[in-house]
Amino acid sequence: MENNAEKMEKIVSLCKRRGFVFQGSEIYGGLAGVFDYGPNGVELLNNIKKAWWKANVYDKENYFGIDSGMFKHPKVWEASGHTSGFSDPLAECRECNTRIRVDKELERVGVTADEKMSEAEINQLFDSVRDKIACPKCGQKNFTPAKAFNLLVKSNLGDFTSEGTDPVYLPGEACQGIYLNYKNILDSMSPKLPFGIVQIGKAFRNEISPRNFLFRTRELEQADTQLFVKPNENKDAYEQVKQDRWNWYLSIGIKEENLQWKQHDNLVFYASDAWDIMYNFPSLGFDELEGVHDRTNYDLTQHMEFSGVDQRYTDGETGEKYIPWILETSVGLGRLFLAVISDAYHEEEMDGSTRVVLKLHKDLAPYRVAVSPLLKNKPELVEKAREVFVALKKEFGNVAWDDNGNVGKRYRRQDEIGTPYCIVIDFDTLGEENPAAKDTVTVRHRDTGEQERVAISELTSYLR
Ligand code: ATP
Repeated sequence: MENNAEKMEKIVSLCKRRGFVFQGSEIYGGLAGVFDYGPNGVELLNNIKKAWWKANVYDKENYFGIDSGMFKHPKVWEASGHTSGFSDPLAECRECNTRIRVDKELERVGVTADEKMSEAEINQLFDSVRDKIACPKCGQKNFTPAKAFNLLVKSNLGDFTSEGTDPVYLPGEACQGIYLNYKNILDSMSPKLPFGIVQIGKAFRNEISPRNFLFRTRELEQADTQLFVKPNENKDAYEQVKQDRWNWYLSIGIKEENLQWKQHDNLVFYASDAWDIMYNFPSLGFDELEGVHDRTNYDLTQHMEFSGVDQRYTDGETGEKYIPWILETSVGLGRLFLAVISDAYHEEEMDGSTRVVLKLHKDLAPYRVAVSPLLKNKPELVEKAREVFVALKKEFGNVAWDDNGNVGKRYRRQDEIGTPYCIVIDFDTLGEENPAAKDTVTVRHRDTGEQERVAISELTSYLR
C-alpha cells in the first residue's frame, strides 16, 4: 500500500475502532494536539517503552535510568536557551485568522528553512515565495509577516498572586531533567566516564499547528539518552550511538527501507554534529523520528553558569577536572508509536477475503496470545479454555479471552490488534473424538494463518 493520506486515515480509524488511540477530550469536541491511549494503545506504548529501556539500560553497562519531576526551576529554561530561543515562526492569515508555521510551509514549497534562522531571515524567504503559500483554511495568500512564537507552556505553579512573573514552565523537552541530575548521579552512583543517563518523560510544546495524528502533538513524551564522554572523545562514541539507535529500530521490527539518516545542514552554534533518523510516515513521507546530537559541553556549561554549582567531573586517574561532552538521543514516543503501527499495518488476502493485520513484533503486541473455546455454549469447552487462559495469564499477563462470534471472526479481530497467536480449545482437546489429541490445542499464527497442535503442557515454553 502506498504511504499516502489514505493509509494515515485507515490507521487513525483502526486506532480508534480497536482501542489504541482516541482524540483527547473527544466528547467536548476534542483538544487539539492531545491524544489519549486506550487499552490496546497503552499496552503497545508500554511494550515500546520496555523494549527501549531494555536496550538503553539493561543491555548497556554504565547507563542509569532516572525519572525527574516535570516542573523545574524557572532558571532551567533560561540556562537551556528555551525562554529566549525556543520558538517557531508564526504568521496569521489576514482573511480568516488561521495560523501557519512558516518554516514548515516553506519546506512544503521546496524552500529549506529551520528553527535556527532569525525572524528577518525567515521573512526574506517567506516574501520570496508568498505567491505559492495559500491559507490551508480559506485559500487566500494574505498573511502577516512571520513572528517568532515561543513554544514553552506556562503554568501558575506556586504563583498565588496570579502576577505571572517568573512562571514555572511545563517541560519543553524531557532531557533537562537529566542535566539537572547529572551531579546527583556522579555523587550517588560514582560512575566513570563514559556513562549514560536515560529518561522517559513528558514534554509540552505550544505547537502552532499540531497535525498528522501523533506526529505533531502539544503534549508529548520523549525517550532520551545522554552519554557523557571525555572532552574531544566524542567522534567514535557518536558513531557507535548512531549505529546502536539504527539497529534498535531494526530489532523491534521496523523495516530498514522505511528508515533514513539526515544530517542537519545548519548546526546550532554549540553542536559538533547532528543527525536525525527519519521514518517514512504515512501521508508525510520521510520525516524526523529521532534526533541524535553531539552537543559538546554546552548544556552542563550553561547550568554551571546559571546555577553557580560546579558541574565538572574529576578524572580518577589524572585528577584533572573538566565538563564532559554530551551525546544525546531523543525520540518522541507518539511518533515512534505511529511508526510502529504504520510499519506493521498490512492489508492482504487470506482465505478468500481481505484482512487487516498488524504484524507487530511479538514483544510489542498488546496481547501475546488470545484464548478461546471453539463454541461458547459448550460448558466443557469453556471450562477447559478458562483453565488454559488463567494459566497463561498468570505466566504472561497480556493474554486475551475472546469468545465472541465464530472462530474466523475472532482471528480477524486479533489480527487487527496484532496478537501473534490464537489458541482454540476444541473437542479434540477434550479427547472426545480423537483420544490421541487429548490435552492439545490449536495454535494459529497471525502472520501466516497456519495452525498447529500443541500440548497444553508445552504452551508456556512454546509461546515464550
Ligand atoms: P520538529 O522539527 O519535528 O519540530 P524537533 O527537532 O523540534 O522536531 P526535538 O526537539 O529534537 O524535535 O525533539 C526530539 C524528538 O521529540 C523528535 O525527534 C520527535 O520525535 C519528538 N517531538 C518533538 N516535537 C514533537 C511534537 N510536537 N509532537 C510529537 N513528537 C515530537
